[in-house]
Amino acid sequence: MNYAESVVDLVGNTPLVKLGTVAREAGVRATVLAKVEYFNPGGSVKDRIALKMIEAAEASGELKPGGTIVEPTSGNTGVGLALVAQRKGYRCIFVCPDKVAKDKMDVLRAYGAQVVVTPTSVAPDHPDSYYSVSDRITQETPGAWKPNQFFNQHGPQSHYETTGPEIWRDTDGRVTHFVAGAGTGGTISGTGRYLKEVSAERREADGGPVRIIGADPEGSIYSGGTGRPYLVEGVGEDMWPGAYDPSVPDDVIAVNDAEAFAMTRQLAEKEGLLVGGSSGMAVVAALRVAKDLPEDAVVVVLLPDSGRGYMSKIFDDAWMNSYGFITGEGERTVGDVLQ
Ligand code: PMP
Repeated sequence: MNYAESVVDLVGNTPLVKLGTVAREAGVRATVLAKVEYFNPGGSVKDRIALKMIEAAEASGELKPGGTIVEPTSGNTGVGLALVAQRKGYRCIFVCPDKVAKDKMDVLRAYGAQVVVTPTSVAPDHPDSYYSVSDRITQETPGAWKPNQFFNQHGPQSHYETTGPEIWRDTDGRVTHFVAGAGTGGTISGTGRYLKEVSAERREADGGPVRIIGADPEGSIYSGGTGRPYLVEGVGEDMWPGAYDPSVPDDVIAVNDAEAFAMTRQLAEKEGLLVGGSSGMAVVAALRVAKDLPEDAVVVVLLPDSGRGYMSKIFDDAWMNSYGFITGEGERTVGDVLQ
């Protein structure tokens, strides 16, 4: 019989799929491959760090049987933590900023977790910020452990051990560029560090060392912004998290909300990939990079989650109209999006 002992054993080993129409419309000759992380059992890339952080905390004794996991999370890390915690008998309390889609919070509750909602528009050191509130709950709950995904080095480590090697293996060592957004920075730092190390000695004729490119919401500090708000969820920052290693990305490309959301819709309509806004953002950056590359280049872009959690936002015409993201002047092409 061929089966997994538990959903936890299904984390990782996500597939690569070639982008067809959107790459062609962008005038790209290189191969652009999407690593589709919604194939993880919790539906996002965050299952990887959840598993690694929990296992490490059990090993170090920080998380004891019957303990409570408390974390500020925009949803996806919560799902990953909740499903691993459930299999292992831990309780979960999650703190979410109020810009997070209600559908996402409902998913957390469905897994049996408690959700506490905080305002998005306060500074990180404000007592009502989601960082401060989660600290307070951790201090007040006996047996509580905070994974602290923004600073926990097991986050990037999980990508160094799984995401990076999977990309290298599945491209037969031919990947030349890796593009990903950064929230905590774990994905780009861990995956990027692995891909750089493993390709460090590769000859220039074979593509040289893999180049690592960050995709970032316009306004976020990773691309030189002030931390001003933007609507794409899960990526960008207004402070420097310890999970982000700024020495890894060779370049960071800023993408605005309108471009990110238009591309997100194109991916569903033209590639059959119903993904979230941070995926659209990463693809905009990947196609910008790929446009200037020769045919033998292989660009891998990571798509963090599914579009199911954004039906009332990115995939809702009234919501998109209210921000001026669609004008009703007919369908946009990939060429329009990239200008
Ligand atoms: N996209 C989404 C939808 C996310 O939830 C996250 C995690 N915050 C990311 C991208 C970024 O991943 P990382 O934290 O590894 O930088």
